[in-house]
Amino acid sequence: MNDGLRPLGIYVHIPFCRQKCLYCDFLSAAAPDAVMGRYVDVLCRQMMQEAPQYAGFAVRTVFVGGGTPSILTGLQMRRILGTIRDNFTLSGNIEITVECNPGTLDDEKLACYRQAGVNRLSIGLQSAQDDELRALGRIHDYETFLKSYRAARRAGFSNINIDLLSALPGQTLEGWTDTLRKAAALSPEHISAYSLIIEEGTPFYARYGDGSAPGFLPLPSEEEERRMYERTEEFLREQGYCRYEISNYARPGYACLHNIGYWNRTDYVGFGLGASSLVDNVRWKMTQDMQTYEKNFEKTEIQRLSWMEQVEEFMFLGLRMTKGIAVADFRRLFGTGIREVYQDTLCRLERDGLLLFFDDGRRIRLTKRGVDISNYVLAQFLL
Ligand code: SF4
Repeated sequence: MNDGLRPLGIYVHIPFCRQKCLYCDFLSAAAPDAVMGRYVDVLCRQMMQEAPQYAGFAVRTVFVGGGTPSILTGLQMRRILGTIRDNFTLSGNIEITVECNPGTLDDEKLACYRQAGVNRLSIGLQSAQDDELRALGRIHDYETFLKSYRAARRAGFSNINIDLLSALPGQTLEGWTDTLRKAAALSPEHISAYSLIIEEGTPFYARYGDGSAPGFLPLPSEEEERRMYERTEEFLREQGYCRYEISNYARPGYACLHNIGYWNRTDYVGFGLGASSLVDNVRWKMTQDMQTYEKNFEKTEIQRLSWMEQVEEFMFLGLRMTKGIAVADFRRLFGTGIREVYQDTLCRLERDGLLLFFDDGRRIRLTKRGVDISNYVLAQFLL
């Protein structure tokens, strides 16, 4: 089955949330039901219209992200996934993930997801401390999350990710450890643990952008943030989670195939407002303007990647994963040896203990120290 077809990931963007969190710079906003209903119509039209371009591909992963995809009704989600099923060739062992937020899930919706073939849920908890959730402007408390999580298990979901955020206003190492403990105690198959980044244009930026925040809970110091980061790896390892990417941990066999596709630079196409794509080394983004989107699905920022850009991406995406990259893949993809391009960089990073060759020199990965300062190390691969 699917012989000769190339693998493809599909990303579907749902740009709606019940309310905007104070730290969020994702493309999402609150909207009336009618607007969401019309968006689903337009989204399905886009997928039907563009599907013939992907006749040579078999879809291996679908990721419905946002925003808050679970704000849609179960029937709307079924329609979106039905449109994909009816118009694309799907791999037999496809992974279909839906991002959900606590407070927007119920038994009926979850049953619809199951009928639609959803086999992975990603639930945004962020913190198990109610005061931290309030400070973030989240719509839920910890108890609401627990109800959603238990409902998901009851509905039969056996592959669940929990999203967590550290370095929050007012957060202490003890509070973060308690969040990790509570999350791990539920035994999800996957945990994503990111640090909060204060993004420009958000209410948090107005508060914390220049470092001061009079009248607000302070952000943890750099030292506290580093200790939270170290605690994450240590604690989750003890609990049987394997770190397979800088911020992602999974039980054996449960790494997220869709995200691995991004890091391996597998082709993917994004549908919906502002969604990004990479197909045949061309990157583009759908317009972020709803009216333009509805009118003609306008693509923006279309960029054919040069050989050099492909090489850079291969390195800094591949090295995010703990299994690193294969030296032979580099030669196969780029027609030259990795040392011919990166001799000096590799020697320097190896000498500084930030990167190492392993598997008899067949693979390269970051060391633990390299992962700790990955932003710096990965930037060294820009040509
Ligand atoms: S739920 Fe997620 S996408 Fe929506 S506003 Fe909050 S952080 Fe942003």
